[in-house]
Amino acid sequence: MSRHIFVTGGVVSSLGKGLTSASIGMLLERRGLKVRMQKLDPYLNVDPGTMSPYQHGEVYVLDDGSETDLDLGHYERFTSGILNRDSNYTTGQIYLSVIEKERRGEYLGRTVQVVPHITDEIKASILALATPDVDVVITELGGTVGDIEGLPFLEAIRQIPLDIGKENVMFIHLTLVPYLKAAREAKTKPTQHSVQQLREIGIQPDILIVRTERPIGREHTDKIALFCNVEKKAVIEEVDKEFSIYEVPIGLIEHGLDELICQKLHLSTGPLKMDDYRALVHRIRNPRNEVTIAVVGKYIEHRDAYKSIYESIDHAGFHHSTQVIVKRIEAEELERQGPEIMLKGVDGILVPGGFGMRGIEGKIQAIQFARECEIPFFGICLGMQCAVIEFARNVLGLADANSSEFSSETQHPVICLLEAQKGVRYKGGTMRLGAQPCVLTPGTRTAEAYGVSEISERHRHRYEFNPEYRREFTEAGLQVAGTSPNGSLVEIVELANHPWFVAVQYHPEFKSQPHNAHPLFKGFIEAALLRHQHRSGGTNSERPQVRPMN
Ligand code: GLN
Repeated sequence: MSRHIFVTGGVVSSLGKGLTSASIGMLLERRGLKVRMQKLDPYLNVDPGTMSPYQHGEVYVLDDGSETDLDLGHYERFTSGILNRDSNYTTGQIYLSVIEKERRGEYLGRTVQVVPHITDEIKASILALATPDVDVVITELGGTVGDIEGLPFLEAIRQIPLDIGKENVMFIHLTLVPYLKAAREAKTKPTQHSVQQLREIGIQPDILIVRTERPIGREHTDKIALFCNVEKKAVIEEVDKEFSIYEVPIGLIEHGLDELICQKLHLSTGPLKMDDYRALVHRIRNPRNEVTIAVVGKYIEHRDAYKSIYESIDHAGFHHSTQVIVKRIEAEELERQGPEIMLKGVDGILVPGGFGMRGIEGKIQAIQFARECEIPFFGICLGMQCAVIEFARNVLGLADANSSEFSSETQHPVICLLEAQKGVRYKGGTMRLGAQPCVLTPGTRTAEAYGVSEISERHRHRYEFNPEYRREFTEAGLQVAGTSPNGSLVEIVELANHPWFVAVQYHPEFKSQPHNAHPLFKGFIEAALLRHQHRSGGTNSERPQVRPMN
C-alpha cells in the first residue's frame, strides 16, 4: 500500500515548499523507496502555459509535453521519479474534467457540486499515482492555507485518511517564523494561527517545518509544538541556506526529518545513502574558480522567470568547481546603453527563451557583440532564433531579416511559423511541446559535447528556422549542428570559427541536474572559464585551471 505525504504551506507564499517537498522526495529515494511527486495548484488556468512569467515564473515542460508549474523542476532536479501529465493539476483542470463529465451525462441526473464531485475528482487525481510499485506519493499543495481557492483541495486531502487509513497518510505543514529586529525575537504566533486554520478544516499536521532566517532554538520549537498539538521532535526548523538551495536536504537530515517520516508512516527502508550528495555540497561550498555570465532577457527582474536556466548554469559551475556569477541584464536596457557598457567584462553571454518582440533588438545586439568579440554564447529557443536573425542581418547582409513572430512585412522571414502551427487558434497546450528526437551533425562542438549521435530534448515554441535560407547560412559559416531525424527542422546552429557559439531551438535547461549537469551548459561554462583564464593572464600553475569534477 502506497503512503501519502501532503505538504501544505502557511503564513506567506514563496516559502520554498517546492524545494522542501523535493528534498523530502530525495531523502526517501535515497533510502531506497520509490517516490512519485505531484503538485496541485489552486488557480483557474488549466495549466500555467497561458500565464506570463511575471505572474507565475517559468513554465516547466515535461517529456510528455505538459506545461507545468516550476516546482516540478525542483522535483526533477532532486528526484528520479517519473513526472507526467498526472504530476500537476490545477483547479481549472479539475473543473474542466468535471464539467466535461457533466456534459456527457456521466453524473446520471445528479446535482453536480464542489463536495463531493470536485473533491472526488481531486482525490482521484492524487490516488491515481499510488500504483503498486510506488512506496510514497508526495503531493504538494500550492498557495497558502486560508486562500479561498485552496479550500476544495484541503477538503479533499482531509478525506483521504478516511478512505485509505490514517496510518498511511501524513500531513506536513510549512510555515514561517519571522524574526522581529525591533523586538529581537522570533515570533511563533503566525505559525500558531496557520495551524489553527488547518485544524478548523479538520487537518492536524503531523510535522511542522518552520522556515527561519536564523536558528530559533528548542525554546521556540517546543512552544510551537505545544500550541500546535504536534510532537516536539516533529517541529523542525529549516534555516535559510547561505550557499545554495542544494544544502536544504542536508539540513533536513540533521533534524531527523527522514527518520521521523519513516517511523510515522511505518516504512522500513535501507540506510540513507548520501555520501555522493554530501561530496557535491562540499564542492558547491568550495569553488576554485569564478566566471561571470550575462543572461540577457526580458523578465530579468522576476527571480523565477528563468529558474531552470539559472539552476543549469549553477550545475555546470558545480561540475567545473566554479562559482558562476550571473549578471542579469534587461534586454531593453542593453538596447539603450549598448553592449560595450552592459556586457563589459563578462565571460559568457546567454540569451534565453521568450515570446513577443519587446527586448528583441537588445538581445540581437548582445549576440552580435558575442559573435564579433568571440565571447562564448549560448542561445536557447528565442535566443537561437535571435542568433539566426543577427547572422542574417549582419553577416548575410539581409538588413530587414526577422522572425515572422515580430514582423509580418519582413522580406526575409529567416524564422517562420512551423507548418503545424498554421491553423492553430487555441492558445493553451498547442505549441510544439515536449521531448523530440534530434540527430547531431558529426564533428560539431555540440556532437562532441553530447558524445552521442542522437538526443532527445524538450521543446516549447511555434516558430522555427526557415529551411529556405539553410544553404545561405551554412555557406557563410553558421553550421547546422542538429536536425529533426528526417532533416526537415533545424534544431541546433553553431559558429565554426568562434570559441563557443551554440544556439538550440529546444530547452536543455529542463534536463540538467545538480550532480549531472547538461552537456551544453558544461561546454558553455568551460568555454567561459577558458576565456576568463586567458583574460587574467594565461594558464600557468598559479592561475585557475579548467578541472572537471568528475
Ligand atoms: N517565441 C518563440 C516561438 O514561439 C520562442 C519560444 C521560446 O523561446 N520558448 O517560437
